[in-house]
Amino acid sequence: MSTWTVMVNAANVRSDATSGSMVAFRAAVLHNAAKVFLWESVCYLSKLEACGMPVEVKPRFVVLYGSQKGQAQSIAEGIAEEAEQHGLVADLSCLNETTKYNLEKENDPVVFIVSTTGDGEPPDNALQFVKRIKRKALSTDHYKHLCYALLALGDTNYANFCNCGKTIERRLQDLGAKQFYATGYADDGVGLEVVVDPWLEGLWNAIRGALSKMASDRTAHLKANTEDSAEETPDSSTPDVQISLLRITDHQNCESVGAAVETDSKFACAASSVASVVSDLRPASPAGSIGLASQCHGTASIPTSAPKTQAGDVGVPHVVLAASLTCSLPPLSESSLNVPALPPPYLDVSLQEADTIEQIVGPLNKETLHEVPVSKAVQLTRGDSVKTAILLELDISAYPMMTYQPGDSFDVFCPNRAAEVDNMLSRLGLQDQRNHLVNISLRKDTKKKGAQVPSYISQNISLLFLLTWCLEIRGIPKKAFLRALVEHTGDSVQRRRLQELCSKQGAADYNLYVRDPSLSILELLTAFPSCSPPLSLLIEHLPKLQPRPYSAASSCLTHSGKLHFAFNVVEFPACTGRPVGRRGLCTGWLFDLINPSPVFPGKAESSNSPALPKIHVSLRPNCSFRPPSDPSVPFMMVGPGTGVAPFIGFLQQRAEERQKNPEGVFGETWLFFGCRHRDRDYLFREELEGFVSSGTLSHLKVCFSRDDREDEESAAAQPRYVQHNLLLNSQHVTDILLRQNGYLYVCGDAKNMAKDVNETLLEMIKTELQVDQLEAMKRLAGLREEKRYLQDIWG
Ligand code: FAD
Repeated sequence: MSTWTVMVNAANVRSDATSGSMVAFRAAVLHNAAKVFLWESVCYLSKLEACGMPVEVKPRFVVLYGSQKGQAQSIAEGIAEEAEQHGLVADLSCLNETTKYNLEKENDPVVFIVSTTGDGEPPDNALQFVKRIKRKALSTDHYKHLCYALLALGDTNYANFCNCGKTIERRLQDLGAKQFYATGYADDGVGLEVVVDPWLEGLWNAIRGALSKMASDRTAHLKANTEDSAEETPDSSTPDVQISLLRITDHQNCESVGAAVETDSKFACAASSVASVVSDLRPASPAGSIGLASQCHGTASIPTSAPKTQAGDVGVPHVVLAASLTCSLPPLSESSLNVPALPPPYLDVSLQEADTIEQIVGPLNKETLHEVPVSKAVQLTRGDSVKTAILLELDISAYPMMTYQPGDSFDVFCPNRAAEVDNMLSRLGLQDQRNHLVNISLRKDTKKKGAQVPSYISQNISLLFLLTWCLEIRGIPKKAFLRALVEHTGDSVQRRRLQELCSKQGAADYNLYVRDPSLSILELLTAFPSCSPPLSLLIEHLPKLQPRPYSAASSCLTHSGKLHFAFNVVEFPACTGRPVGRRGLCTGWLFDLINPSPVFPGKAESSNSPALPKIHVSLRPNCSFRPPSDPSVPFMMVGPGTGVAPFIGFLQQRAEERQKNPEGVFGETWLFFGCRHRDRDYLFREELEGFVSSGTLSHLKVCFSRDDREDEESAAAQPRYVQHNLLLNSQHVTDILLRQNGYLYVCGDAKNMAKDVNETLLEMIKTELQVDQLEAMKRLAGLREEKRYLQDIWG
């Protein structure tokens, strides 16, 4: 017999014991307060019951999330769900649910999962929290009791990577909180899972360690208190006990406790099913590839350059296959897989025949939306250019409250494509129920923490409406969704491939065949014909259909009652899993809307002219991306391609102001524009040249990345991209920014351009001020803080 000392948190003790035995228990607790704590000795209900002690004990921690598009929320929910498998209880809350958590009094570890949105801002549901913790009045020991871990989600394509996470972390530390696990900074630019997966794997041990440490600190504290108050009666102090100690003397009954705790079940290894599939896949003969070939279905591609035939043992040609969406090769095809735990279902969905169902046309939130006619459409690029750029003019005269400022953008609400909705209905076997009412409720027995019926799905909508206006059926299936689809896939080869794609081992294939080509769920279902998910699974896993924002490309001073915007028609090329290319959802829809006559002038409607197409929009004011309020301050604009759109609005407004106030002092204006070819995709060329002639635009710097250079020598000297032109004008740029209190605006592609411009600015500052990289970064960050270096980027 040996003596075990077990520490439990009284707050999480649920006991069937009578109050008398609970008092005895607490007394024992106090008397053993000085014993050493070992995590491995934390006992669970079953273990304690085995010891004759019917007490359920689950150490607790807190999970808080701030999420804009649901990614941080789903990671946080995953942690909360998995906690139980680790013998822990997670209290999950969104950062704006302030009644559900209290950091001021929190004695258990806290895990933050936060994303960053826009230009480094917190997600909407974390805004108030960030404001609260930034209050200057808070003392430096405000959170000294707090132990936290933080996972920050961001995208290095945007400025201020993981800024919300970094801000929260900085403030927590300023206020005395202690980190118990290194912060993860996950980059959506390369795939969140690269950081998220290992971070989650290490989290459980870290939480255990933190719980042990916090408990032993409290024990030490308690012991000191107990000794100090030796004179007091035990009963008077017991009700306040937070941490309790329990002596368990029967080692034999409890010896497997530690092992139970150590089991890491983040990835429920699909051992049995995988093992059988692996053996199915394993080639019967050493020739191997043929065996595999017969297991691959769909469009397994055979590289033409590959050695196609070799004399095999049995005279069968030896085919070298390439992997594809539906087919994998060794070692992945032969590897054991760690797949994510099956996400618990949480919605009950039924369809109800309705005699009269209101046929809703267009999105639901009519109060904030305006339905406006497209009064003009102009193709800005020539037919033979690589991209098609379109300018649309909206007639907003019916909505006088829709006044907008240069720099504002607005949301366009577009439906899913009718053909895709039809396709989805038949894939679900629900064509005949398209007009049925959809009833959605929470499953009573769901194990999903914080499960809710999606707020963006209203009551009384038809199935057709749900698939047309509510769900992003083009959404790229996340790994959890793939995992759930496995359960609804009949064919064992297809099941195995879906398991691979969501597994740790198949991460590269997931990126290559699903994430990078933006594969939609419909495309995936087409490639995996034996997969038949129920409608409820789609509602659980597909995100909300989001409106697409566009920058205003006009000033309402110049175009009263009108709103212009310009966009490129996004093209997704064919790839494995997508036999035919497709257009972007919104840009493709807009393009179709104005066809067959993509160019129609804004003439007054005559009685015989066809009705103008209408779209639903709502304004998204942008309070910082605005021309300087003082017109005498110089400013520079960098906007290649459709990134020039908001600057057309800036310049139209400037032209109006100059006309109204000819004596006024107006600072210099610079525009850096770039495109591929001078004569094919130089957007707004005439208007820009007109601004130069009128003096509204002081300097127009244009470069063409694909035009032939006359000779090698001149080619080297010619700028190819906007950042090259910035460099050529380095002296002016730095002078305006660093000495004249001027402004720099960047708009357009987030993936390459905005980053390159940022790098170039750093180089320019380093050279100009003769400072090192760190100092240059500080100067640039300072300009951002002062809102004199502003970005409006997308992609
Ligand atoms: P989807 O079907 O949603 O596919 C989008 C996917 O295509 C992206 O995930 C990305 O991987 C890829 N993609 C390829 N090229 C692009 C691209 N050029 N833009 C976005 N995604 C791309 N776009 C404009 O053309 N003009 C604007 O003035 C404009 N202003 C914007 C302002 C703001 C504040 C924001 C956030 C975005 C803005 N965008 C603008 C982008 C726009 O909102 C859409 O994302 C874009 O038009 C694609 O929509 P889609 O539905 O056709 O493509």
